[in-house]
Order: sequence, then C-alpha cells, then structure tokens
Amino acid sequence: MMGLEIKNLYVEVDATEILHGIDLKVPAGEVHAIMGPNGTGKSTLAYSLMGHPKYTVTKGDALLNGESIMGLAPEERSHKGLFLAFQYPVAIPGVTVANFLRTAINTQRKSVDPDYHGISIPEFRKLMLEKMELLDMDPKMGGRYLNDGFSGGEKKRVEILQMAMLEPNMAVLDETDSGLDIDALRIVAQGINTLKNEKLGILVITHYQRILNYLKPDVVHVMVDGKIVESGGPDLALRLEDEGYGWVKA
Ligand code: ADP
Ligand code: MG
Repeated sequence: MMGLEIKNLYVEVDATEILHGIDLKVPAGEVHAIMGPNGTGKSTLAYSLMGHPKYTVTKGDALLNGESIMGLAPEERSHKGLFLAFQYPVAIPGVTVANFLRTAINTQRKSVDPDYHGISIPEFRKLMLEKMELLDMDPKMGGRYLNDGFSGGEKKRVEILQMAMLEPNMAVLDETDSGLDIDALRIVAQGINTLKNEKLGILVITHYQRILNYLKPDVVHVMVDGKIVESGGPDLALRLEDEGYGWVKA
C-alpha cells in the first residue's frame, strides 16, 4: 500500500507503556486526523514514527509505502519521504531559515544520489521564494535565525515551508494548530491545503477540531489512553467538539 500503515504498535517511554496496539492506515492522497485528550499518546506516536531514541517500540510495525521503517535511523526515514512537524519546534540561533532549508534539501538529494553536488544558491532562492509565496510568507524570514524569537504562527509556517520544499510523501503534523490565532491558523491550514496531492498522505494530530474546518480530513480517528477507540468521517470531529471526549471509552 502507498502511504503509512501502522500495525499493532506498542511503545514504551522510560519503561512505561504509552501506546497499547495502534492500528492505522493513511493511504497516499488522503488526509487523516487523530484527535484525543491531552496525555493520551498522540505525540508519542509522532515521535515513535520519527524514531526518537526515547521511544521504544516493543511490538508491532510501521510501514511507509509497504516498507518497514522501524529499523531505520530518523534521517533514513526522512529520506524515504516521511516528514514530521513537531508540537514544539526547536530554535537554532546562528542558523538561518534559508541555510537550514538548503542543508535539508542537499542532505535529502544526496541520499538519493551520492554524487549530488548541492543546489545552487540561485536555484535554491527561486525555490524558497516560490514556496514562501504559496504560504504567504515574508521573504525576510529566510534570513532570520531558525525559530529564534519566532511567534507561534511563524514557527508553524516555517515548518510547512520545510514540508513544501522537501516534498515528502507522508507528513505527520503534531498540533500544528496549537498556539495559533485564527488568522495564523487559516494561513497555515491553507498552506497545507495547497500542498495536498494524490501522492501525499497527511496525518494531522490535534486536540481541537478547528483546524479540521479548513483541512477537511477524509477520516478522523480518536485516540484515548494509547489506543484508537473510534474512526469515522469529519462529523466525528464535530461531535467531539460538542460533547467532549467523555462518550468515547477506551
Ligand atoms: P499527547 O501528545 O496526546 O498529549 P503524549 O504522547 O505527549 O500525549 O504523552 C502521553 C503520555 O506519556 C502522558 O501520560 C505522559 O505523561 C507520558 N509520558 C511522557 N513522557 C514520559 C516519561 N518520560 N515517562 C513516563 N511517562 C511519560
Ligand atoms: Mg502532544
């Protein structure tokens, strides 16, 4: 299957089991959402997919385009086309957004072709400005240090910019909506919408329904206590917004 397939995944953090058998399929071309209360294991799933060393997979598997990624290093997963936007992006003072993105592109292209000599500055600039325009970003952002003093909205936009430039085939967006005011939320969501295509699967992790008004997921999954307890159409998100999580039982 093209896309992401998570099979009976169990994950521990510091010897505590957090995910208790997650099954999930996100086919290429579809947008899926995972909603759930805080502390339920949503970020744990995102970190496990990326291969964060703190998260130990004790059972199960995750396949990207039919191939297991669980034995791979984080950068290898990324080279296979997996992209993760984290809830709390880190600041890197001294590294500009443009430099960061250029390095990311070069690393990715070199993984495909070891002889690749690196993207030229004019070619890179053209690509970055094109994608920035798509995301309604000020070109000056490229010269600022990565996430250093960025507002919540700016951080998220830079993440989506990175996604736009790396052209992944599976994007996992962990609480991309958190801390955004309604205008920033709309711009970020529209940015994600412009990147949608039949080859890209998108998994949006969120606590709130509001970003889903813009992203219009094909399927909504509900996670409670480290398990998917319910899956359904977009109306499921609306019901959660109205009635809270009390009615879905783990
Ligand atoms: P969510 O993203 O859904 O809010 P998280 O994946 O961040 O949830 O956290 C899931 C659970 O894992 C929480 O109950 C949290 O307390 C627990 N957790 C996170 N880190 C650790 C740790 N180092 N040791 C034990 N439990 C942890
Ligand atoms: Mg989280």
